[in-house]
Amino acid sequence: MTDVRRSVPRTDDLLADPRLAGAVDRLGRAAVKQAVHAAQDEVRADRLAPDQVIGHVLSALPGSATTLRPVLNATGVVLHTNLGRAPLSQAAIEAMVRASGYVDVELDLSTGRRAGRGRGALAALREAVPEAEQVLVVNNGAAALVLATTALAAGREVVVSRGEMVEIGDGFRLPDLVRSTGAQLREVGTTNRTVLDDYAAEVGERTGCLLKVHPSNFTVSGFTGSVGVAELSGLGVPVVVDVGSGLLRPDALLPTEPDVASALTAGAGVVTCSGDKLLGGPQAGLVLGRAEFVERLRRHPLYRAFRCDKTALAALEATLRGPETPVHQALRAETRARTEALAEAVGGSLVEVQGAVGGGGAPGVGLPGWAVALPPYVAERLRQGDPPVLARVADGQALVDLRCVPAADDEVLRAAVLACLR
Ligand SMILES: *Cc1c(COP(=O)(O)O)cnc(C)c1O
Repeated sequence: MTDVRRSVPRTDDLLADPRLAGAVDRLGRAAVKQAVHAAQDEVRADRLAPDQVIGHVLSALPGSATTLRPVLNATGVVLHTNLGRAPLSQAAIEAMVRASGYVDVELDLSTGRRAGRGRGALAALREAVPEAEQVLVVNNGAAALVLATTALAAGREVVVSRGEMVEIGDGFRLPDLVRSTGAQLREVGTTNRTVLDDYAAEVGERTGCLLKVHPSNFTVSGFTGSVGVAELSGLGVPVVVDVGSGLLRPDALLPTEPDVASALTAGAGVVTCSGDKLLGGPQAGLVLGRAEFVERLRRHPLYRAFRCDKTALAALEATLRGPETPVHQALRAETRARTEALAEAVGGSLVEVQGAVGGGGAPGVGLPGWAVALPPYVAERLRQGDPPVLARVADGQALVDLRCVPAADDEVLRAAVLACLR
C-alpha cells in the first residue's frame, strides 16, 4: 500500500502553480487556498488523482469575487425591487468603472484645491431641471426625505394628509420615517379626501413644513380628493414634495405619475425622489428646490451621513447626460416579433400580457405587451438555471416576457428555455 499523504500535492506548490495565478488575482489568495484544501482532502480520500488537483480547483472556484448573480428579467416588471430596480445604461456602467479608482471627485485638478464633491452630477441635475435653484444628491429617496424633514422641521411639526401616510414596502412606512427625525406629524383630512382648509387649520407657529407624498404603490378611486402643490404653497410654509419615482418631467406614457419639474413650478420648496426608479439610474436620492431650503439641507450634519458614493455620482451624471436608459427603453419596448420568434423556437404559445412599471410606481398603469406561455414547471427551472431567468407565473402558466430582456440576450434566453424543456 502506498502512503496516500505523500502523493498529496503541497499547498505552497499548488498556490505557486502558474495555472492558479489568474484565479488568485481575480478572487484572492484566501479563496483559492480554501479550494486547494478541499481538493487535497479529495486526494486523501482517494477520490481524486494528484495530477487532477489543479483542474479540480479551477472548476470549483466561482467565476467572480461577488456572489451576486446577473439575472435575466423576463417578468415584464421594469423596476423589479428584488432584482435591484433600474438596470444601468452602458454609459452609466462605464462611468462607474471609471470612477472606481482614484478620481477627482473632490479635487480641482487645475488648482490642486479641494472642490465640491460630485459637482459634475450636481451640474447635470441642475441642467436637467432648470426649475430648481439648487440641488443635492444623497444615498436614496428615503434619506432625501429624512434630510428634508429633519432640516426643515425637527422639533417642529410636519403637516401631512391622512391619504398620504403610505407604506412603501417591506414594512417601511413613511410616517415612521418622518417621526424618527424628531418632527411631530400633524395628520390632516381623511383617507380618501383632504381639502385645503384641513391644512390651513393646522398651519401655525410650530409648523416646520407641509409634506406631500406621492402614494406611489396604490390608487384610490371613488369619492376622493387631495390638494395640489400650487394651493399648498400659498399657505406660507415650505412645501416638501416626495414624488417617489424620479420622473424629472411629465411623461405621456405615465400620465398619473407626478414629476419633479411640475412640482417645482407649482411652488414646492423642496422635491425629493429616487435615482433608481423611473430616472433609470443608480440608487440615489435627489433633492431639488429653492436655494434657501436646499442650503439648509446641505448644511445639516445628516447630509454627511447620507453622502453618496463616488461611483453612484458617476453613474448618476452619465444617466442624466447620457443615452436613453434601459428603463426608458423597457417601458416602450415593442417585443411582438422577438416574442413570436422565441415562441416558435421553443414550442410555446404567444399570449398578450400586461407588463408593469414596478418598484412601487404607476400602480394603475399596465404596459401592453407579449409573452411566451410555457408549462408552469419551467419557471422554477429557469430561475435555477445558468444564467438565472426570472419568469412570471400567472394562470397556471410560466410567462416569459421579453420587455426587460435586452435583444442581445435573446439567444441566451432561447437556449435557457430549451434546456428547461428537455
Ligand atoms: C420609493 C419611494 C421612496 C423611497 O425611495 P428609496 O430610493 O427606495 O429610498 C420614498 N417615497 C416614495 C413616494 C417612493 O415611491
